[in-house]
Amino acid sequence: RLILGFESSCDETGVGIVRLGPDGALELLADEVASSVEEHARFGGVVPEVASRAHLEAMVPTMRRALETSGVELSDVDAIAVTAGPGLAGALLVGVSAAKAYAAALNKPLYGVNHLAGHVAADTLQHGPLPARCLALLVSGGHSQLLLIEGLAHRITEIGSTVDDAAGEAYDKVARLLDLPYPGGPPIDKLAKQGNACAIAFPRGLTGPRDPRYDFSFSGLKTSVARWVERAERAGEEIPLADVAASFQEAVADVLTAKAIRACKDLEVDTLVISGGVAANSRLSGLAAERCAEAGIELRVPRPRLCTDNGAMIAALGAHLVAAGAGPSRLDLSTTPGLPVSTVQVP
Ligand code: ATP
Ligand code: MG
Ligand code: FE
Repeated sequence: RLILGFESSCDETGVGIVRLGPDGALELLADEVASSVEEHARFGGVVPEVASRAHLEAMVPTMRRALETSGVELSDVDAIAVTAGPGLAGALLVGVSAAKAYAAALNKPLYGVNHLAGHVAADTLQHGPLPARCLALLVSGGHSQLLLIEGLAHRITEIGSTVDDAAGEAYDKVARLLDLPYPGGPPIDKLAKQGNACAIAFPRGLTGPRDPRYDFSFSGLKTSVARWVERAERAGEEIPLADVAASFQEAVADVLTAKAIRACKDLEVDTLVISGGVAANSRLSGLAAERCAEAGIELRVPRPRLCTDNGAMIAALGAHLVAAGAGPSRLDLSTTPGLPVSTVQVP
């Protein structure tokens, strides 16, 4: 069966096509993404109105490319999945409207799905089905969460989340502070490779003995980087940009991996999936690999292309729902900008 997936929750217009085999295996047939990130760059963050308009312009051409590259005919599609939330209201509406139109015109079932669960589902396109229980560290531009996954289509439980900024948000804010381009993850990742990660001891948020075990905080880290840079500037010192980047990146990777592994041990889970845009970070995956190997935990990190927003991950989640025998959502389903991760599919 062929599942078509639409993604438009933020600034990437994504259309993906996935084949669900009789044995439940997924095959990625198309993964087309159009990004409006350059239009937002000069604002240092996503401008919702600009994103909505860009989705509107990109949706049909992106869809056509997905069909062309895969050689799939629209009439061969068996089900349609679309991000129903969380995300920007106006942006979500474009994908949901497109998906509804195709579902109605083709008379195929429509699945309104959770974007965050989609980020985790992306990994199954590369590494196959998840074990019955696993832990996911979801780190993206808007979220940083630890999730207990007991079947992607069945049960996702949030066990921890950020109390302030998301990890990706911290990358974007620190990049801005260092005069690096938006989005900040890729340039910091690159610069950090030339720096010394031990140069500056930035704080590890919420790691004290009385702090919540699985929650994150990155706002203090960002402020600490800002103070450090201000002090150096006042002292007339040259800012060692690469060292600042490497030390900041180390603080983020250290806390994320330490808490994820502690959660795996506490919950007796032996598989950790890291997904979302920040999972593309080389130090995060590197440190996670070292620490997981030590702890005897299997680590799964999808390739960078599958970590950031795309339509293939939404098609993949749709395929898991179809495989699990879930019924479709209503054709008049609504977008839910604040959809909690525990709601994998909207009614
Ligand atoms: P959400 O999924 O929470 O709704 P989003 O969809 O905007 O948010 P993603 O597209 O999953 O987020 O990820 C974008 C974020 O990932 C940005 O903050 C970006 O800086 C960060 N990012 C991308 N590549 C890297 C990298 N190599 N290292 C660190 N961060 C990165
Ligand atoms: Mg994006
Ligand atoms: Fe995302």
